[in-house]
Amino acid sequence: MSQNKLESLLMEASRKLKNDGVGEYQLDAQLFMMKATGFTKVQLFTKNDYCLNGNEAEEFWKMVDKRGKRIPTQYIIGSCQFMGLDFFVSNAVLIPRPDTEILVETILEYKKNNVINSIMDIGTGSGCIPISLLHYGVNKAVAVDISTDALEVARRNAERNKVLERIQFINSNLFEKLGEEHYGKFDAIVSNPPYIAKSVIKGLMPEVKDFEPMIALDGGRDGLDFYKEIIPKGKKYLSSNGWMFFEIGYDQGIDVSDLLKAEGFDKIEVIKDLAGLDRVVLGKIL
Ligand code: GLN
Repeated sequence: MSQNKLESLLMEASRKLKNDGVGEYQLDAQLFMMKATGFTKVQLFTKNDYCLNGNEAEEFWKMVDKRGKRIPTQYIIGSCQFMGLDFFVSNAVLIPRPDTEILVETILEYKKNNVINSIMDIGTGSGCIPISLLHYGVNKAVAVDISTDALEVARRNAERNKVLERIQFINSNLFEKLGEEHYGKFDAIVSNPPYIAKSVIKGLMPEVKDFEPMIALDGGRDGLDFYKEIIPKGKKYLSSNGWMFFEIGYDQGIDVSDLLKAEGFDKIEVIKDLAGLDRVVLGKIL
């Protein structure tokens, strides 16, 4: 079965993925090989003349074929790294992005000099934001999502990352199901809401526009729909001197800052990502 030699399969799969227009074709082939064989990355090189058994080879090619159809790698593997933690992902949730690590890191930075012990995350998806905040020092979190399927994923991630007893999940369209018992209770409201302008969506990569949940991406005509709702409606849930922290699109810094200003927020800042683009907006309620 020389055709199942690890090294040849990797080469063949890389070639196929490249032809299919996959950007990181070599890395993806390696990830699928690791998943199919249980090998570490180093073992892919030290055991390159290993011959895969029938099941391993079949599993490998199944994953390669899915990727060839542009299904995102993380949905195929079923997991994703975020803030150094491991998250389960399915197509019910947006795949956690490195961009969103900037949001979490900004909150942790502000936490050094401000009281940020309890947070509410609006549109939690995989739960990557509140779960990593809890892991890195926040005490308590409420995670809200309109999708029960997303909340199932988030719950599984809270369990996987051992924060389940400090997080509450609420199935709600924004604040609809949040009662008076939550008024004034949160040191910060955080959100990575859908913020892509409707007209821009059709130009996104197939991995995003064809496979990631549209309700996690579509921010309406100008992409700002959710900020316009969360900022005025969320205020009453903040403790005195509470904060709001948002992930934003690269061209939304001024608009979201203005929305915060109009609702009486102070200390408004726009934080850039590693590419030098506006990525996070924050403000403190007066
Ligand atoms: N950053 C994501 C993307 O460009 C969008 C995330 C969002 O809408 N919240 O695909």
